Amino acid sequence: MEYLPDLKRLLLLVVVFVPAERLLALRPGQKLFRRGWANDLLYYVANGPIIGLGISIVVLGTIVMAEWLVPESIREAVASQPYWVQTLEVILLADVGFYVAHFAFHKIPWLWRFHAVHHSIEELDWLAAHRVHPVDQIITKGVSLLPIFALGFSGVAIAIFGLIYGWHSILLHANVKIKFGPLRWLIASPEFHHWHHANHREAYDKNFAGQLSILDVVFRTAYMPKGRMPSRYGTDDPVPHHYLSQLIYPFVRRKPRKPSENMSPVISGNSLQPVKE
Ligand SMILES: [Zn+2]
Repeated sequence: MEYLPDLKRLLLLVVVFVPAERLLALRPGQKLFRRGWANDLLYYVANGPIIGLGISIVVLGTIVMAEWLVPESIREAVASQPYWVQTLEVILLADVGFYVAHFAFHKIPWLWRFHAVHHSIEELDWLAAHRVHPVDQIITKGVSLLPIFALGFSGVAIAIFGLIYGWHSILLHANVKIKFGPLRWLIASPEFHHWHHANHREAYDKNFAGQLSILDVVFRTAYMPKGRMPSRYGTDDPVPHHYLSQLIYPFVRRKPRKPSENMSPVISGNSLQPVKE
């Protein structure tokens, strides 16, 4: 695994998403260099190596443990399935893990302090997707990948999943108006995930899935009101604005979030640009 920032991938993301966010803009008035863009770029550059190292440790630990705990016959049966079946199974299993970890990051106050950094995004776009505290990212991805590596899925299926997940997770944050039609209740769309980031009381703790919105339908946490998009994103928690302050923010003692503290209609910063009808 590479521990240097992937600048080729960054260039590819710019080439794909910058024009897409112009052509298909959800909020046409939102600037390319919106507030906090440099901070989110710093996340891309600095977080990748930290997260890569953390996840490598989790994965290696899982593989070693699985050799002891999971019978060889099960691992062989899993790996002998066709790649397309394995890929679908990996997407489903990984997203159940993602849902559980993400749910815990919302519901357990000390975990929420890490996840609040991601929810401090007030203008969503492809670059903002990278604003994730490394502890949040390592635990969430670790929980998500643990059963995948423990059960011995083939490297090909895991690589295909990784490629799809990588682009899908960025698309979900992008400032694009792409409708998935009825499929939005099966596959996570930008509309689905923008509501997860909404600073609207009725949208708190909704839409936890990373790829399969049907998990939220099954667990009764789905929220996508017809014909509406959020009028504000973010959290009322006092998350600082800069990378290093955000990294230490969860470790600073403070009162846990109370639901009533999130009822304020007032948010700091600029109001959102209107959506394209
Ligand atoms: Zn969240």
